[in-house]
Amino acid sequence: MSDYDVDLFVIGGGSGGVRAARVAAQHGARVMLAEEYRVGGTCVIRGCVPKKLLVYASRFRAEFEDAAGYGWTLAQSSFDWPTLIANKDKEIARLEAAYTAMLEKAGVTVVKIRAAVADAHTVQMTNGKRVRAATILIATGGAPTFGDPIPGIEHAISSNEAFHLPSLPPQVVIQGGGYIAVEFAGIFAGLGAHVTLVYRGENILRGFDDDVRAHLRMDMEKHGIRVFTGCKVAAIARSGSRFSVQLSSGNQISADCVMFATGRAPNVSRIGLQETGVAIAKNGGVAVDEYSRSSVASIYAIGDVTNRVNLTPVAIREGHAFADTVFGGKPTAVDHVNVPTAVFADPEVGVVGMTEAQARARLPQTDVYKAMFKPLKATLSGRDTTVLIKLVVDGLTDRVVGCHIVGEGAAEMIQAAAIAVKMGAKKADFDATMALHPTTAEELVTMRKKSASYAREAAE
Ligand code: NDP
Repeated sequence: MSDYDVDLFVIGGGSGGVRAARVAAQHGARVMLAEEYRVGGTCVIRGCVPKKLLVYASRFRAEFEDAAGYGWTLAQSSFDWPTLIANKDKEIARLEAAYTAMLEKAGVTVVKIRAAVADAHTVQMTNGKRVRAATILIATGGAPTFGDPIPGIEHAISSNEAFHLPSLPPQVVIQGGGYIAVEFAGIFAGLGAHVTLVYRGENILRGFDDDVRAHLRMDMEKHGIRVFTGCKVAAIARSGSRFSVQLSSGNQISADCVMFATGRAPNVSRIGLQETGVAIAKNGGVAVDEYSRSSVASIYAIGDVTNRVNLTPVAIREGHAFADTVFGGKPTAVDHVNVPTAVFADPEVGVVGMTEAQARARLPQTDVYKAMFKPLKATLSGRDTTVLIKLVVDGLTDRVVGCHIVGEGAAEMIQAAAIAVKMGAKKADFDATMALHPTTAEELVTMRKKSASYAREAAE
């Protein structure tokens, strides 16, 4: 018998930790998992899932408006925030219970408590109990950060609180230009709020393709979202239930809610890592090798706490690969190249692979194919919107190295396109694929002209 109480102790019950625990147990390991808040973690409890439900809710307004051009007359619509939040909470509770039941069915012991590493093989829980584990997995995720302290910062909320507001704020100021900022801008605006987005850089979604950034901003502004760039929130003053938001540019905005979406930091503190000698990387995450092993041989880390690619499916892959490596006798490294990603903004963004700028910097020759066009649905609805589809191609090998889509259904389209990009498909393979008409995605296989001139003009 082993000297340890368990073979694996997982700290953190988010998507990555849950997957690792379940698969390790299925490999025959004795597994214990500690979660201090709710099983499901950021994605299920206060991230991807509730966010997408809010995104769905926010899109009905446009659907109702668009219906008129198709002959529908609708009764006066109205929206009730508490109903949405209550229904969302019910679904999240159902998912949490399902996650817990699934873990227990796999034989994992779930403890709802805060746990920390005491030494290379010991976990200390806040109830005083200690558990000896052959392997410890850190899967503690990340948490919102608020940037530099400014006067009145205590009035700002993060996305965590946005999911539990008692009512829909009529006027919202959001600071940040990343995923969470643009997604919540779309949610609040779609539900009827006046939204101002404040971003310190030149344009939102830094790191994304420049055409994508420009297109999204243009459409967000068309949909009534005010975007201020090149400035920051300098101070927030409270007056009753309202706030006065002072910008570094000198502008002053009134708001009922001020939300900061200024990034997330790995949860590495107060869990005994430094004391145990677990090295922290320059980016603030736990430093790990390709098998997610930390600088202490018996301690591994996966997901957002490693600050590699902070996306749920990546954490799940890392958790699964860890369990296969350590308990399944099958060393598996996770491939972080060509990970597709979507931003559920209004309009939606879906991307995989290199941006045009990255390709031009890395490849001797880059070809770019772009199409910008009014989607068929917008003809009768009269909606002022355009879709952007862009392929970035290695000019020497003809391989499609990047695919970028902005418009309705972008996330669904990019998941399929990502298979081709991951397989190393060439532009000729895209061209050889028969178009499916009439769809937005058909443009992926019908673009013939290289860049500069758009294949289908917006006016078409
Ligand atoms: P991001 O890193 O995506 O964006 C942070 C934003 O805040 C950037 O625009 C950044 O500006 C700005 N910022 C950072 N610090 C400051 C500061 N001190 N003052 C003013 N602005 C600042 O973080 P998010 O919080 O939006 O999301 C966290 C992560 O969660 C994402 O990176 C992603 O990995 C994941 N996520 C994924 C989603 C999805 O898959 N759909 C949805 C939501 C989150 P700058 O660009 O200049 O650095």
